[in-house]
Amino acid sequence: MRRRRILAAGGVLAGTVVTSVASRSPDEHDLVSAARHPGSGDEPETNTESILPNTDHETTLYEIDAPRDGPTAMIFGGVHGDEYNGIDVGHEIAEGWYPDAGTLAVVPETDRVAVENDEREGIDGDLNRHFPVDGDPESELARGVWEAVERHDPDVVLDLHRSLGIYGVHRQYVGQAIFHSSDARGDELAAALNDAVPWYLPMHRFVARESHLSGPLLFHKAARELDAVAYLFETTSFLFDRETKNEMTRVMTAALLERHGLLEAEGKR
Ligand SMILES: [Zn+2]
Repeated sequence: MRRRRILAAGGVLAGTVVTSVASRSPDEHDLVSAARHPGSGDEPETNTESILPNTDHETTLYEIDAPRDGPTAMIFGGVHGDEYNGIDVGHEIAEGWYPDAGTLAVVPETDRVAVENDEREGIDGDLNRHFPVDGDPESELARGVWEAVERHDPDVVLDLHRSLGIYGVHRQYVGQAIFHSSDARGDELAAALNDAVPWYLPMHRFVARESHLSGPLLFHKAARELDAVAYLFETTSFLFDRETKNEMTRVMTAALLERHGLLEAEGKR
């Protein structure tokens, strides 16, 4: 149905691309809708904790416990402070997503100084380069974040980002890609996302790429040291406005939670 509706708006000019994508109802994707509505049974319980309390970096981690046992997923937004999709969707999850099983931990503003300054980097530079192989995290913030990751011991980690261009087209950019550990469901998630990418934007189709995991990135360290299934998500600013990037981020997150056993599609409840 979604595809037919977009086709009906076919023949649009590039200038209206953003509008027609963003005007889709946010509830249109079944899994996003399922995430926003509690299933039958008890409602999840939400607790908060502070990462690095009483420091400049102090930021909130929200833990949403579903009524049924299941895996633990950790989601990070704002590792780069000017990438609003992860920050916006992180807050949405904290305020109104309901996993059916397991525990969902979300940190919407991981580098809070960077978020408040509306900049990619915070006090000690690029947080997503502070998690080296075979070594301790390299900044106070990275140590605080990693301590929280170890404490929650997630089965799944998702780090939400935004690129400025298109993977394989703009050489320095990696937009519309899912980087993942070897045991992840990258191809399935890319396919789920591509269902939401209009046919007239073929360059915007998502690609899934297994990562070598040898870099100093948060999702690399989670995969290497905790055996978490780990993902880094990149949507793009190229032709997409804020709401469209947010919608791609919501769809990715909900599809991932479903694939990893925290969320059921509404028809299956
Ligand atoms: Zn980023």
